[in-house]
Amino acid sequence: MKIGIVGSGFVGSTAAYALVMRGIGREIVLIDQDEKRASAEADDIFHAVPFAHSLNVHAGSYSDLVGAKVVIMAAGVNQKPGETRMQLLERNAAVFNSVIPNILRHVPDAIIVVATNPVDVMTHYTAQIAAKHGIPSGRILGSGTTLDTARFRALLSRHLGVDPQQVHAYVVGEHGDSEVLLWSLVNVGGVPVHDFLTARGINITDQDKASIDEKVRRAAYHIIEGKKATYYGVGAALARICEIILNNQRAILTICASHREVVGVKDVTIALPHLISGEGVIGSLPLTLADEETALLAKSARIVRSAIELLP
Ligand code: ADP
Repeated sequence: MKIGIVGSGFVGSTAAYALVMRGIGREIVLIDQDEKRASAEADDIFHAVPFAHSLNVHAGSYSDLVGAKVVIMAAGVNQKPGETRMQLLERNAAVFNSVIPNILRHVPDAIIVVATNPVDVMTHYTAQIAAKHGIPSGRILGSGTTLDTARFRALLSRHLGVDPQQVHAYVVGEHGDSEVLLWSLVNVGGVPVHDFLTARGINITDQDKASIDEKVRRAAYHIIEGKKATYYGVGAALARICEIILNNQRAILTICASHREVVGVKDVTIALPHLISGEGVIGSLPLTLADEETALLAKSARIVRSAIELLP
């Protein structure tokens, strides 16, 4: 099974490396406008194959995407010093205007997984371009808060002393400052966290919650401060999304997808727990939230919607 990756920078190539390390798919095609970069990354990753899983990894052009079931869109430009969010969005929209139709021309049936930031806005834009080609919006999704949710679960698991696989929790909304940690839905092995804490005789104070919130919400800032970019976490998240699609696993992740309306905000793309299959996004889970969480989610959705309105 073939996976295409357009944009072989830090995020695209790390996703390819994660796919090879985990043995997801059989072939990876790396595409970049910088052909030398794509070819160098493909060679470097291919040399790891004998230590991992047997995938064929190579650089290519759009015509090499034919047969791909999933295409990761990780191409884009970074914010220049002094550049406004609107100028950045315009430049990234220009990249998407050239890349997305090229992908659709060669693999109209593929599922496109957007990783370029601001991911909610760029996923919305991709779905708009795809709609003009008659592609249903369920085939377009973005990494959303998949990684933020993983961070939340990992930190809760450490506090509670339980394997993170047994800790269920979601981060929803914008992948960014306004994202919402859904404390009211946290459960451990199906048991509400409050009952779990009582049974175990442990406590989670407001200070603990604030510290977890800060570590989830500000993670990217801390990482960028130390190493200028984040890519391992998102690369692993993208590999997991590809795995679900290729194996038709019908799993739930907080990817972002387009919605006609979320908490009163119309025509917006934000992250919610979505059921994903080999066909793409099946739908989002019905959530019963605390009133303040609903208000925060609406605020987050409005922030994304205003950024969508800045798109050309
Ligand atoms: P990130 O950390 O998000 O991966 P990078 O700058 O490392 O950011 O990677 C972005 C990649 O996208 C670069 O390798 C760049 O060459 C590529 N890119 C930018 N515009 C285009 C385009 N129009 N077509 C293909 N690749 C592009």
